[in-house]
Amino acid sequence: MYLTLKRYFGYDSFRPQQREIIQHILEGGNALVLMPTGSGKSLCYQIPALMLPGLTIVVSPLISLMKDQVEALVANGIAARALNSAATEVENAIIRQECIEGKIKLLYISPERLMLELPILSNQTNISLFAIDEAHCISGWGHDFRPEYSRLGILHERHPHVPIVALTATADKITRTDILEQLQILDAKVFLSSFDRPNLSLDVRRGLDARQKRLTILEFMSHHLNDSGIIYCLSQKNAELMATYLCEHHITAVAYHAGLSSEERNKAQEDFINDRVQIVCATIAFGMGINKSNVRFVIHYNLPKSIENFYQEIGRAGRDGLPSDTLLFYSVADIIQLTHFAQESGQREINIERLNRMREYAEADICRRRILLNYFGEENGHDCGNCDVCKNPPRRFDGTILVQKALSAISRTGEDVTMRTAVDILCGIFSPEVKAHGYADLKTYGVGRDVPLRDWNDYLLQMLQLGYVEIKYDEHNHLRITDLGNEVLYGHKSATLAVIHKEEKPPRQKRKKGERQMELQRQLNLQVSMDPIPLEDPVLFEKLRRLRFKLAEQQGFPPYIVLSDKVLHEIATIRPVTVEEFGNVSGIGEFKKQKYGQTFVDAVRQSLGLSSLTDSDENV
Ligand code: ADP
Ligand code: ZN
Repeated sequence: MYLTLKRYFGYDSFRPQQREIIQHILEGGNALVLMPTGSGKSLCYQIPALMLPGLTIVVSPLISLMKDQVEALVANGIAARALNSAATEVENAIIRQECIEGKIKLLYISPERLMLELPILSNQTNISLFAIDEAHCISGWGHDFRPEYSRLGILHERHPHVPIVALTATADKITRTDILEQLQILDAKVFLSSFDRPNLSLDVRRGLDARQKRLTILEFMSHHLNDSGIIYCLSQKNAELMATYLCEHHITAVAYHAGLSSEERNKAQEDFINDRVQIVCATIAFGMGINKSNVRFVIHYNLPKSIENFYQEIGRAGRDGLPSDTLLFYSVADIIQLTHFAQESGQREINIERLNRMREYAEADICRRRILLNYFGEENGHDCGNCDVCKNPPRRFDGTILVQKALSAISRTGEDVTMRTAVDILCGIFSPEVKAHGYADLKTYGVGRDVPLRDWNDYLLQMLQLGYVEIKYDEHNHLRITDLGNEVLYGHKSATLAVIHKEEKPPRQKRKKGERQMELQRQLNLQVSMDPIPLEDPVLFEKLRRLRFKLAEQQGFPPYIVLSDKVLHEIATIRPVTVEEFGNVSGIGEFKKQKYGQTFVDAVRQSLGLSSLTDSDENV
């Protein structure tokens, strides 16, 4: 197992559970593997596939996923193919023949295609293992139900002695049982991993308007120069506007949503996967089938409608295990819009409840990761240190007077204003609403001028969270003061608010870069222990990145398939000067060592002022 891991994938150790799962499969057992995205599920069947004598058949729901997996395997010198409608029938006939001749180790196939091919494959090949990827597609309860998956029970019927391994990142209990029942492998051993993704930072900003959000994104981007990322927006329009805005600021971005033609969508996806554009501004239509391992951040421009959605979407960042950032914006406008969606949906109660859980996350003043894990039925018992709450624990102050000012302003309008107009009144802004209703004559007009508008937005959002006001969704989203709010207004109770966390400006970038570097070092040093800790050369990294891009373009597959970000960082850190040293980098197997060793080592040597390998004999 270890030899196979090293030789083909270039890794020295297994991640949690991988070894146990592989062992179990090699002993002929069935297995259900539940692991979060990016934790290394694929290796759990790929290593057995390489070690078992015959063919491993991998059932996969999407052509793009198959393509990605097959490319990654072939790039490691492994005989893998995909049999699907993307190829011509002549090409498929060749692949079928290769399987019959025992030349292929892993065959990726869609479930409907498998039903057609199974008679031939059963009779003419030696099947060693079935792997059912994205196994939650089998269940009507799951979010990606695929009717064709429900015919897979036939595999165990026809091949009772061939082990079946089902893999998914969706863990809920009903889905789990459904998978085992339908595949007829109730005896399968279940391997359930923690759903924690510690490499993803969690950050929430509340109460920002569109302009402030855009500025925050630009500032955020200054820490992510050249990094791939996704920005999720609620509307197609916002996705478009965001992409245009970024392009105006010389950041390559494209929009992706259901309003585009399928060619436009495919192009956007391909450009993103191949690092030709840096950012996709997308509605939730984007994501399934994206296996790109070097997505470094995910931003939610609006609040998602549930924690499931949110977790799945942020899960697209950092699949390679390197530190990656997530940022969620959250405003009253989102709550209003999502509440309306939920109320109009067929499952009103459930969807309101889902939204409330999402709000709890966004409004939390305890470690956000604990809330996420708790939602998935896990309790890790400690704060994560990698969310905004852990990094800047909220400080509180007596906000009674502020709350009274706001409530008084709302009260004097006869509770007939939206949150926005309430803020206009407080700040003394002569907006069309204020003008139309004569609110400028109110005693409370301008009473909160001493507090910036942006802060009032935040305080009012806090008052909503604290239950001093409610939104009347069926009355133009106007505000109503609750009983609790009245108690504060009339001085029977005091109110505590959270201090608004403000970003310190310029020094932050440098410090943050340093922090990222340290974090990266920490991660890399899990694999290379050297003393003293070498520092990454950022100029070399950029050079390597360009080299990788060029090699990827030449071969027609994505840069992250050539070498992962993690490998590039490690090369830029340890700076191998011989092909042998290059081969010791974690993630470089035999095949890549031979294929890319000299090219990358030469790039390193050049940056160190050494002669190229081709004109020296050091490597012999
Ligand atoms: P999943 O299918 O669970 O989303 P993948 O199988 O795509 O995850 O693996 C995610 C990343 O982790 C890949 O880049 C893979 O090469 C890497 N990986 C998997 N197993 C190991 C390991 N034992 N050591 C180091 N990296 C690993
Ligand atoms: Zn935390």
